[in-house]
Amino acid sequence: MKIIMLGAPGAGKGTQAKKIADQFQIPHISTGDIFRANIKEGTELGRKAKEYMDQGLLVPDSLTLELIMDRFQNPDCANGYVLDGFPRTIPQAEALTEALKEQGESIDFAIDVEVPDENIISRMSGRRACLACGATYHIVHIPTKKEGVCDRCGEGLVLREDDKPETVKKRLDVYHEQTQPLIDYYAGQKKLVRVDGTQEMEEVFQAIVKILGA
Ligand code: AMP
Repeated sequence: MKIIMLGAPGAGKGTQAKKIADQFQIPHISTGDIFRANIKEGTELGRKAKEYMDQGLLVPDSLTLELIMDRFQNPDCANGYVLDGFPRTIPQAEALTEALKEQGESIDFAIDVEVPDENIISRMSGRRACLACGATYHIVHIPTKKEGVCDRCGEGLVLREDDKPETVKKRLDVYHEQTQPLIDYYAGQKKLVRVDGTQEMEEVFQAIVKILGA
């Protein structure tokens, strides 16, 4: 099963992607997480990506494609994957379609998690992330047992630089301009399915499970 999660930053696609990955026993691949891991490790890729990420801009396609194509080589991708945050531009989507076509394959579903911009801005300011293990929480919707501390690994939580309100507004502009065209792209390929992302997290997940026929 090869699934792409579409939707604005903060639509909840990361949370849903992790649940799908658990349900189908396939890897959850988040380009944002891979970039953040590189930033933490101080790699050259991380240094370059950070310049863009901190401004709410997309990392250039060339860097992103190199990273994701390399990730696909990992044996854990043999039975598919759920992509979270990739593709984010038409050239990235075309590169993915081409790479899969060379293997006689294609994606199964592109799931658009739909949430209006107003909801996104209020949601994201409540988001908290653990930079140590990648877990994400929300002060209202997904609270931790102990405030400010990761349930999974015990490290302190932060409001990511790119979740700050001014950066969120920029990311939404970038999303509408560069990523929203992917909705038409996958609709054209008859791969697009839409779910109402304003519902409770579990309801969104059940809607997705129904679509995927699990
Ligand atoms: P995310 O955690 O998916 O919201 O990604 C955080 C940031 O990483 C984005 O705002 C971009 O700067 C960068 N990023 C993640 N995935 C991509 C991608 N596929 N193409 C370009 N930039 C990306």
